[in-house]
Amino acid sequence: MALADLSVECGDDSGSCLELEAERIAEKFVEYYWRQTLPFLGRETLRQNTGKPPVVVSLLRKTRSKYGDSLSAAHRDQADWRNVIGKIAANVRAMPMRYLQNVGGDRLPFLYDPPPSRAPRKIVLYPGVAFCFRRFHGLVAELVQAAWAKWVRQQNLPIIGESSDLHEFLFGAKRGALLLVKGPLRDLQDNLCFYCQKPMSNQLDIDHFVPWALYSLDLGHNFVAAHRECNLAKRDRLASEEHLEVWVERNNRFGKGLASEFDRLGVLHDVTSTIRIAHWAYSAASVSAGLTWQTKQTLVPLRGKWSSLLA
Ligand SMILES: [Zn+2]
Repeated sequence: MALADLSVECGDDSGSCLELEAERIAEKFVEYYWRQTLPFLGRETLRQNTGKPPVVVSLLRKTRSKYGDSLSAAHRDQADWRNVIGKIAANVRAMPMRYLQNVGGDRLPFLYDPPPSRAPRKIVLYPGVAFCFRRFHGLVAELVQAAWAKWVRQQNLPIIGESSDLHEFLFGAKRGALLLVKGPLRDLQDNLCFYCQKPMSNQLDIDHFVPWALYSLDLGHNFVAAHRECNLAKRDRLASEEHLEVWVERNNRFGKGLASEFDRLGVLHDVTSTIRIAHWAYSAASVSAGLTWQTKQTLVPLRGKWSSLLA
Protein backbone atom coordinates (compact mmCIF):
# COMPACT_ATOMS: atom_id res chain seq x y z
CA MET A 1 0.00 0.00 0.00
CA ALA A 2 2.85 2.36 0.89
CA LEU A 3 4.61 1.72 -2.43
CA ALA A 4 1.39 2.42 -4.34
CA ASP A 5 0.63 5.59 -2.34
CA LEU A 6 4.19 6.90 -2.63
CA SER A 7 4.12 6.28 -6.38
CA VAL A 8 1.17 8.68 -6.48
CA GLU A 9 2.69 11.19 -4.07
CA CYS A 10 6.30 11.20 -5.29
CA GLY A 11 6.30 9.56 -8.74
CA ASP A 12 5.19 10.61 -12.21
CA ASP A 13 3.79 9.02 -15.38
CA SER A 14 7.09 8.91 -17.28
CA GLY A 15 7.69 5.23 -16.53
CA SER A 16 11.03 5.92 -14.87
CA CYS A 17 12.50 4.37 -11.70
CA LEU A 18 11.42 5.74 -8.35
CA GLU A 19 13.75 5.89 -5.34
CA LEU A 20 12.03 5.54 -1.98
CA GLU A 21 13.75 6.08 1.37
CA ALA A 22 12.86 3.84 4.30
CA GLU A 23 11.79 6.92 6.31
CA ARG A 24 9.18 7.85 3.71
CA ILE A 25 7.74 4.32 3.84
CA ALA A 26 7.82 4.48 7.66
CA GLU A 27 5.74 7.69 7.57
CA LYS A 28 3.10 5.89 5.51
CA PHE A 29 3.09 3.05 8.05
CA VAL A 30 2.33 5.59 10.77
CA GLU A 31 -0.53 6.98 8.72
CA TYR A 32 -2.11 3.51 8.27
CA TYR A 33 -1.53 2.25 11.79
CA TRP A 34 -2.33 5.37 13.78
CA ARG A 35 -6.09 4.74 13.72
CA GLN A 36 -5.53 1.02 14.19
CA THR A 37 -3.90 1.55 17.58
CA LEU A 38 -7.24 2.93 18.82
CA PRO A 39 -9.46 0.47 20.70
CA PHE A 40 -12.01 -1.07 18.30
CA LEU A 41 -15.54 0.12 19.20
CA GLY A 42 -13.99 1.46 22.41
CA ARG A 43 -13.18 -2.08 23.57
CA GLU A 44 -9.65 -3.22 22.88
CA THR A 45 -6.84 -2.78 20.42
CA LEU A 46 -7.01 -5.24 17.56
CA ARG A 47 -4.26 -7.80 17.10
CA GLN A 48 -2.35 -7.29 13.88
CA ASN A 49 -0.28 -10.48 13.87
CA THR A 50 0.16 -13.83 15.58
CA GLY A 51 3.23 -13.07 17.72
CA LYS A 52 4.17 -9.95 19.65
CA PRO A 53 2.48 -6.72 18.50
CA PRO A 54 4.27 -5.24 15.46
CA VAL A 55 6.94 -2.68 16.38
CA VAL A 56 4.96 0.09 14.69
CA VAL A 57 1.89 -0.65 16.82
CA SER A 58 3.83 -0.65 20.12
CA LEU A 59 5.65 2.56 19.22
CA LEU A 60 2.46 4.33 18.20
CA ARG A 61 0.69 3.25 21.37
CA LYS A 62 3.49 4.88 23.36
CA THR A 63 3.31 8.00 21.21
CA ARG A 64 -0.46 8.14 21.66
CA SER A 65 -0.15 7.87 25.44
CA LYS A 66 2.12 10.92 25.33
CA TYR A 67 0.31 13.15 22.80
CA GLY A 68 -3.27 11.88 22.84
CA ASP A 69 -5.24 11.07 19.70
CA SER A 70 -3.90 13.97 17.65
CA LEU A 71 -1.32 12.78 15.16
CA SER A 72 -0.68 16.39 14.35
CA ALA A 73 0.33 17.10 17.99
CA ALA A 74 2.80 14.22 17.82
CA HIS A 75 4.19 15.69 14.57
CA ARG A 76 4.85 19.02 16.19
CA ASP A 77 7.44 17.67 18.65
CA GLN A 78 9.90 17.31 15.78
CA ALA A 79 12.82 15.75 17.71
CA ASP A 80 10.64 13.10 19.30
CA TRP A 81 8.78 12.51 16.04
CA ARG A 82 11.97 11.94 14.01
CA ASN A 83 13.06 9.49 16.69
CA VAL A 84 9.83 7.48 16.38
CA ILE A 85 10.04 7.52 12.55
CA GLY A 86 13.69 6.42 12.77
CA LYS A 87 12.75 3.41 14.89
CA ILE A 88 9.89 2.42 12.59
CA ALA A 89 12.16 2.91 9.56
CA ALA A 90 14.72 0.54 11.10
CA ASN A 91 12.00 -2.06 11.33
CA VAL A 92 10.78 -1.37 7.78
CA ARG A 93 14.36 -1.85 6.54
CA ALA A 94 14.89 -5.10 8.40
CA MET A 95 11.54 -6.70 7.58
CA PRO A 96 9.12 -5.65 4.81
CA MET A 97 11.74 -4.09 2.53
CA ARG A 98 13.72 -7.34 2.63
CA TYR A 99 10.88 -9.84 2.57
CA LEU A 100 8.08 -8.21 0.58
CA GLN A 101 9.09 -10.05 -2.59
CA ASN A 102 9.42 -13.49 -0.98
CA VAL A 103 6.48 -15.48 -2.24
CA GLY A 104 5.91 -19.05 -1.07
CA GLY A 105 9.57 -19.51 -0.15
CA ASP A 106 10.85 -18.08 -3.45
CA ARG A 107 12.39 -14.73 -4.12
CA LEU A 108 10.45 -12.92 -6.84
CA PRO A 109 12.00 -9.50 -7.37
CA PHE A 110 9.33 -7.92 -9.55
CA LEU A 111 9.20 -4.47 -7.95
CA TYR A 112 12.81 -3.61 -7.03
CA ASP A 113 16.24 -5.26 -6.78
CA PRO A 114 16.57 -7.31 -3.62
CA PRO A 115 18.44 -5.07 -1.17
CA PRO A 116 22.15 -5.89 -1.02
CA SER A 117 22.35 -5.28 2.75
CA ARG A 118 20.34 -6.62 5.67
CA ALA A 119 18.94 -3.19 6.39
CA PRO A 120 18.79 -1.17 3.12
CA ARG A 121 18.28 2.61 3.50
CA LYS A 122 16.24 2.83 0.31
CA ILE A 123 14.79 0.87 -2.57
CA VAL A 124 14.52 1.81 -6.24
CA LEU A 125 11.34 0.71 -8.01
CA TYR A 126 12.04 -0.76 -11.47
CA PRO A 127 11.09 1.30 -14.55
CA GLY A 128 7.34 1.11 -15.10
CA VAL A 129 6.50 0.02 -11.55
CA ALA A 130 5.56 3.48 -10.24
CA PHE A 131 3.64 4.10 -13.48
CA CYS A 132 1.58 0.93 -12.95
CA PHE A 133 0.98 1.70 -9.28
CA ARG A 134 -0.33 5.11 -10.33
CA ARG A 135 -2.49 3.74 -13.12
CA PHE A 136 -3.93 0.86 -11.06
CA HIS A 137 -3.91 2.53 -7.65
CA GLY A 138 -7.61 1.93 -7.02
CA LEU A 139 -7.30 -1.76 -7.79
CA VAL A 140 -4.17 -2.20 -5.63
CA ALA A 141 -5.79 -0.33 -2.73
CA GLU A 142 -8.90 -2.52 -2.91
CA LEU A 143 -6.89 -5.74 -2.98
CA VAL A 144 -4.64 -4.68 -0.10
CA GLN A 145 -7.48 -3.41 2.06
CA ALA A 146 -9.61 -6.51 1.48
CA ALA A 147 -6.72 -8.83 2.38
CA TRP A 148 -5.76 -6.69 5.38
CA ALA A 149 -9.31 -6.54 6.75
CA LYS A 150 -9.71 -10.30 6.28
CA TRP A 151 -6.51 -10.97 8.18
CA VAL A 152 -7.35 -8.61 11.04
CA ARG A 153 -10.84 -10.14 11.30
CA GLN A 154 -9.38 -13.66 11.55
CA GLN A 155 -6.98 -12.54 14.29
CA ASN A 156 -9.73 -10.86 16.29
CA LEU A 157 -12.89 -12.89 15.80
CA PRO A 158 -14.01 -12.73 19.45
CA ILE A 159 -13.84 -8.92 19.44
CA ILE A 160 -15.08 -8.20 15.94
CA GLY A 161 -17.38 -11.10 15.13
CA GLU A 162 -19.31 -10.29 11.99
CA SER A 163 -19.42 -6.57 12.77
CA SER A 164 -19.54 -4.58 9.57
CA ASP A 165 -17.69 -1.62 11.06
CA LEU A 166 -14.26 -3.11 10.57
CA HIS A 167 -13.49 -1.70 7.12
CA GLU A 168 -14.60 1.77 8.18
CA PHE A 169 -12.51 1.51 11.37
CA LEU A 170 -9.39 0.42 9.48
CA PHE A 171 -9.61 2.59 6.38
CA GLY A 172 -12.51 5.07 6.61
CA ALA A 173 -12.19 8.87 6.62
CA LYS A 174 -11.43 10.38 10.00
CA ARG A 175 -14.70 12.13 10.85
CA GLY A 176 -12.93 14.07 13.61
CA ALA A 177 -10.91 16.19 11.18
CA LEU A 178 -14.06 16.96 9.17
CA LEU A 179 -15.84 18.34 12.22
CA LEU A 180 -12.86 20.43 13.27
CA VAL A 181 -12.52 22.30 9.97
CA LYS A 182 -16.21 23.18 9.59
CA GLY A 183 -15.99 26.54 11.37
CA PRO A 184 -12.79 27.83 9.76
CA LEU A 185 -13.84 26.82 6.22
CA ARG A 186 -17.29 28.32 6.63
CA ASP A 187 -15.64 31.60 7.69
CA LEU A 188 -13.12 31.50 4.86
CA GLN A 189 -15.90 30.94 2.32
CA ASP A 190 -18.10 33.68 3.83
CA ASN A 191 -20.71 31.04 4.52
CA LEU A 192 -21.08 30.36 0.77
CA CYS A 193 -21.10 26.85 -0.64
CA PHE A 194 -17.76 26.12 -2.30
CA TYR A 195 -19.47 24.70 -5.38
CA CYS A 196 -22.62 26.74 -6.08
CA GLN A 197 -21.62 29.93 -4.21
CA LYS A 198 -25.04 30.19 -2.52
CA PRO A 199 -25.42 30.75 1.24
CA MET A 200 -25.25 27.65 3.46
CA SER A 201 -27.57 26.76 6.31
CA ASN A 202 -26.36 24.99 9.44
CA GLN A 203 -26.58 21.71 7.57
CA LEU A 204 -23.33 21.98 5.69
CA ASP A 205 -20.96 19.19 4.75
CA ILE A 206 -17.20 19.06 4.54
CA ASP A 207 -16.30 17.58 1.18
CA HIS A 208 -13.05 15.91 0.16
CA PHE A 209 -12.22 17.94 -2.96
CA VAL A 210 -10.21 15.00 -4.33
CA PRO A 211 -12.81 12.30 -3.51
CA TRP A 212 -12.00 9.97 -0.64
CA ALA A 213 -13.05 7.00 -2.79
CA LEU A 214 -10.31 7.90 -5.25
CA TYR A 215 -7.55 8.46 -2.70
CA SER A 216 -7.63 8.41 1.10
CA LEU A 217 -6.53 12.02 1.35
CA ASP A 218 -7.41 13.44 4.76
CA LEU A 219 -5.05 16.42 4.59
CA GLY A 220 -6.47 19.83 5.49
CA HIS A 221 -6.11 21.61 2.14
CA ASN A 222 -8.25 18.93 0.48
CA PHE A 223 -11.35 20.01 2.44
CA VAL A 224 -14.05 22.43 1.27
CA ALA A 225 -17.38 23.36 2.88
CA ALA A 226 -20.47 22.74 0.77
CA HIS A 227 -24.24 22.28 0.88
CA ARG A 228 -25.21 18.75 1.73
CA GLU A 229 -27.14 18.62 -1.59
CA CYS A 230 -24.09 19.73 -3.59
CA ASN A 231 -21.88 17.23 -1.75
CA LEU A 232 -24.36 14.42 -2.37
CA ALA A 233 -24.70 15.38 -6.04
CA LYS A 234 -20.92 15.40 -6.50
CA ARG A 235 -20.64 11.94 -4.90
CA ASP A 236 -17.31 10.25 -5.66
CA ARG A 237 -16.59 12.37 -8.72
CA LEU A 238 -13.77 14.74 -9.45
CA ALA A 239 -14.84 18.38 -9.57
CA SER A 240 -14.73 20.22 -12.92
CA GLU A 241 -11.80 22.41 -13.94
CA GLU A 242 -13.88 25.47 -13.04
CA HIS A 243 -14.06 24.27 -9.42
CA LEU A 244 -10.45 23.16 -9.57
CA GLU A 245 -9.38 26.68 -10.48
CA VAL A 246 -11.17 28.10 -7.42
CA TRP A 247 -9.65 25.43 -5.19
CA VAL A 248 -6.11 26.06 -6.46
CA GLU A 249 -6.61 29.82 -6.09
CA ARG A 250 -7.89 29.36 -2.54
CA ASN A 251 -4.89 27.26 -1.56
CA ASN A 252 -2.50 29.74 -3.19
CA ARG A 253 -4.02 32.74 -1.46
CA PHE A 254 -5.01 31.29 1.88
CA GLY A 255 -2.94 28.12 2.08
CA LYS A 256 -0.54 29.46 4.70
CA GLY A 257 -3.28 30.87 6.93
CA LEU A 258 -5.18 27.62 6.62
CA ALA A 259 -2.02 25.69 7.53
CA SER A 260 -1.63 27.58 10.83
CA GLU A 261 -5.32 27.10 11.55
CA PHE A 262 -4.98 23.35 10.85
CA ASP A 263 -1.98 23.23 13.22
CA ARG A 264 -4.01 24.93 15.93
CA LEU A 265 -6.89 22.47 15.44
CA GLY A 266 -4.68 19.39 15.18
CA VAL A 267 -5.55 18.63 11.54
CA LEU A 268 -2.79 17.16 9.38
CA HIS A 269 -1.80 19.07 6.27
CA ASP A 270 0.79 18.98 3.52
CA VAL A 271 -0.13 21.22 0.64
CA THR A 272 2.59 19.87 -1.68
CA SER A 273 1.41 16.26 -1.34
CA THR A 274 -2.19 17.41 -1.69
CA ILE A 275 -1.44 19.13 -5.02
CA ARG A 276 0.58 16.15 -6.27
CA ILE A 277 -2.29 13.79 -5.46
CA ALA A 278 -4.76 16.11 -7.20
CA HIS A 279 -2.43 16.16 -10.23
CA TRP A 280 -2.41 12.37 -10.28
CA ALA A 281 -6.21 12.20 -10.00
CA TYR A 282 -6.84 14.68 -12.84
CA SER A 283 -4.18 13.08 -14.99
CA ALA A 284 -5.85 9.66 -14.57
CA ALA A 285 -9.26 11.16 -15.41
CA SER A 286 -7.79 12.84 -18.47
CA VAL A 287 -6.19 9.60 -19.75
CA SER A 288 -9.51 7.77 -19.44
CA ALA A 289 -11.47 10.74 -20.86
CA GLY A 290 -13.47 10.75 -17.61
CA LEU A 291 -16.20 13.28 -16.92
CA THR A 292 -16.03 15.72 -14.03
CA TRP A 293 -18.79 17.16 -11.89
CA GLN A 294 -19.96 20.69 -12.55
CA THR A 295 -23.34 21.14 -10.85
CA LYS A 296 -26.36 19.02 -9.88
CA GLN A 297 -26.58 16.43 -12.68
CA THR A 298 -24.20 18.19 -15.07
CA LEU A 299 -20.96 16.40 -15.96
CA VAL A 300 -18.32 17.96 -18.19
CA PRO A 301 -15.14 16.67 -19.87
CA LEU A 302 -11.68 17.96 -18.96
CA ARG A 303 -10.27 20.51 -21.40
CA GLY A 304 -6.63 20.27 -20.36
CA LYS A 305 -6.51 23.32 -18.13
CA TRP A 306 -5.98 21.11 -15.05
CA SER A 307 -2.38 20.44 -15.98
CA SER A 308 -1.29 24.09 -15.87
CA LEU A 309 -3.43 24.75 -12.78
CA LEU A 310 -1.70 21.92 -10.92
CA ALA A 311 1.77 22.33 -12.44
ZN1 LIG B 1 -24.06 24.34 -3.03
